[in-house]
Amino acid sequence: MIYDLIIIGSGPAGVSAAIYAARQKLNLLVISKDMGGQVAKKAVDIENYPGFDKISGPNLIKIFEAQLQTNKVEVVFDEVLKVEKPFDSAQGAPIFKVATALGDNYEALTVVVTTGGDPRPLKAEGEKEFIGKGVSYCALCDGPIFRDKTVAVVGGGNSGFETALFLSNYVKKIYILEYGNKVKADEENQKIIANNNKTEIITSAKVLKIEGDTLVKSLTYEDMAANQQKTIEVEGVFVEIGYSPATAFIKDMVDFSERDEIITDLETYSTRTSGLFAAGDCNKGKYKQIVTAAGEGAKAALAAYDYLLKIKK
Ligand SMILES: Cc1cc2nc3c(=O)[nH]c(=O)nc-3n(C[C@H](O)[C@H](O)[C@H](O)COP(=O)(O)OP(=O)(O)OC[C@H]3O[C@@H](n4cnc5c(N)ncnc54)[C@H](O)[C@@H]3O)c2cc1C
Repeated sequence: MIYDLIIIGSGPAGVSAAIYAARQKLNLLVISKDMGGQVAKKAVDIENYPGFDKISGPNLIKIFEAQLQTNKVEVVFDEVLKVEKPFDSAQGAPIFKVATALGDNYEALTVVVTTGGDPRPLKAEGEKEFIGKGVSYCALCDGPIFRDKTVAVVGGGNSGFETALFLSNYVKKIYILEYGNKVKADEENQKIIANNNKTEIITSAKVLKIEGDTLVKSLTYEDMAANQQKTIEVEGVFVEIGYSPATAFIKDMVDFSERDEIITDLETYSTRTSGLFAAGDCNKGKYKQIVTAAGEGAKAALAAYDYLLKIKK
């Protein structure tokens, strides 16, 4: 069977795309490694998604999943390994072929990629243990919890500096820790932070461990310039050392940013391959949030619908 649309991923972008596509009566399939993406793994409550003052990630995903069922969306749990669009002689037109890890092959007229990605972890001792207990990968989401506290931002690039600037609205003091012997943020960001009296920059810092009891209490790093171990007392650690979009499986079909994010048209979320759309955190974009991912998913699905109307004519 040739689907109208295959959606890859079932985080907020994929779920939203699926709801919109189902309501347009598209014959669609969702293929995803899991249900819920990053939200399902979130350790602390979500407080910035409209409709809920506070909701846990797993509970929000249960609601998303129920809405997929109400809309009778078919979901297959599998990993997509490759997407191609060869000419199909039986159809007399190119058709998307989607190959998965379980060895299945699916066909579709359009594809929406919503595979998100993951923040790069530090791989320091205690990091995993304290996720949601002081360790965060999302200042926009968790920053307000750290009001009047001392925190560390790990990463001295633009993301780290912008995170520090955002946190300075709430926290008492911020250490920015940079692995290299100088920070990598651009001059403008450096100037802004230099005028921010809450921030202290520590370079040549290799984070070794994060410690605490029920919550984070301190961070120990190696001062590589002085060849010494040092400990700072912090109640929060924000990790800003990069993000890995899950986009390798479409590498020949789309354009990428320098961070391997998919570049799309900002109105239709179309890529350079006609019929292939992308939405959410896998896309180039600064504000990676549940609500923005869901919005992009809806727009990509509607754009896929418009595209189908044109090609079916
Ligand atoms: C710790 C943390 C806390 C956060 N807190 C908040 C918050 O409070 N509020 C907020 O708005 N945002 C928060 N965010 C950000 C938010 O979770 C993301 O912006 C959002 O989940 C992005 O949605 P998405 O659908 O684009 O991608 P994702 O949620 O990453 O979903 C991607 C989906 O694609 C699937 N997938 C990936 N590769 C493949 C493949 N090859 N084949 C099949 N399936 C695949 C994954 O399994 C997953 O289902 C947080 C993020 C983190 C990491």
